[in-house]
Amino acid sequence: MKSKLPQVGISIFSQMTALANEHGAINLSQGFPEFDAPDYLKSQLSHYVGEGQNQYSPSAGVPSLQAQVAALIERRYQVSVSGQEQITVTSGATEALFVAIQAIVSEGDEVIVFDPAYDSYEPAIELAGGKAVHIALTAPHYQIDWQQVAASINPNTRAIIINTPHNPSAKTLKPSDLEQLKQLLNQHDLLLISDEVYEHITFDGLPHLSALTDPALFERAFVISSFGKTFHSTGWKMGYCVAPKQMTVEFRKIHQYVTFSSFTPAQLALADMLAEHPEHVDELSGFYQQKRDVLVKALASSRFTLLPSEGTYFLLLDYSEISELDDVAFCRYLVEEVGVAAVPLSVFYQQAPKDKVIRLCFAKENQTLEEAAKRLCQL
Ligand code: PMP
Ligand code: GLN
Repeated sequence: MKSKLPQVGISIFSQMTALANEHGAINLSQGFPEFDAPDYLKSQLSHYVGEGQNQYSPSAGVPSLQAQVAALIERRYQVSVSGQEQITVTSGATEALFVAIQAIVSEGDEVIVFDPAYDSYEPAIELAGGKAVHIALTAPHYQIDWQQVAASINPNTRAIIINTPHNPSAKTLKPSDLEQLKQLLNQHDLLLISDEVYEHITFDGLPHLSALTDPALFERAFVISSFGKTFHSTGWKMGYCVAPKQMTVEFRKIHQYVTFSSFTPAQLALADMLAEHPEHVDELSGFYQQKRDVLVKALASSRFTLLPSEGTYFLLLDYSEISELDDVAFCRYLVEEVGVAAVPLSVFYQQAPKDKVIRLCFAKENQTLEEAAKRLCQL
């Protein structure tokens, strides 16, 4: 059969997790929490399943969850959006990204993505008939050169995808980034997809700068988030998209034919969680900052150079003092010989730079992080 995605293989996350399991290694590769979702959230899910809430929800989402997400946005960002008209519940941020891309990209359109880029963007762009234009950011700062972005824009450019806090670099965009982004979007009449799945995980008092908070950005934006990251429930595959009304109309036309609706009991449980336990979201940054610090401290005596982690649950390590291997070979060596699985950064690039950098996920129990660090310190 002719492949529509001839370049695409098995995702690095599936590959590394399988390899970690095969070798009994500590899995700091695929990004998912080792700890469980909150008890209250789990008990509400059981409650709604038991109560018989097991049929389709409205396509755009259960109204109580739309309302709770609108309240969360109001509380966190002092921005007022309509749950009913602007928030669509999706089956994970992955579905929201896919749908947003299908809604705006047509044959021949170009979309600017920043490498290292999350792996689901490009296939979605290609399936829509578009082309991803990659701009590479490099270690250790992963700074966007906005002049380079400006130079990449042409009459076919339709949109820019940003991700802040950023997976895998763990960097956050700063006010000057958003200013320059805004100027380019306005000047060239482009749309924005803002992947904010780690919006509630920023460190050292750094604010998350959401595209929701600037009207001139939000009027052109699909803002996408994930309950999986916020509520330690990646396996539930629940997320949402917030967008201006007319863009939401177009988004929903596609969403209704991708999944129609998302898992009803989880939507009801998440609405209750947001209403009854607002502190969970407020405490998330502190919770993960403590984990980051445990890992950073435990690696202090290693020969790795640790890059700053400003948000997300990832930490980048530069291993150029340790090995000449390329990062894919180094990760294979780590999993087979050292007993720790990590992700090589080069797989997030179209054209990988020479950086010798790997990604560790620290959404793990402290003792797991300490044991992994102990192994890595032996190198
Ligand atoms: N975007 C980024 C940057 C991510 O890291 C992830 C999760 N790994 C997603 C999107 C997808 O989120 P979800 O699991 O809710 O589909
Ligand atoms: N987002 C997770 C990561 O970056 C993995 C998601 C997936 O496995 N598709 O590791």
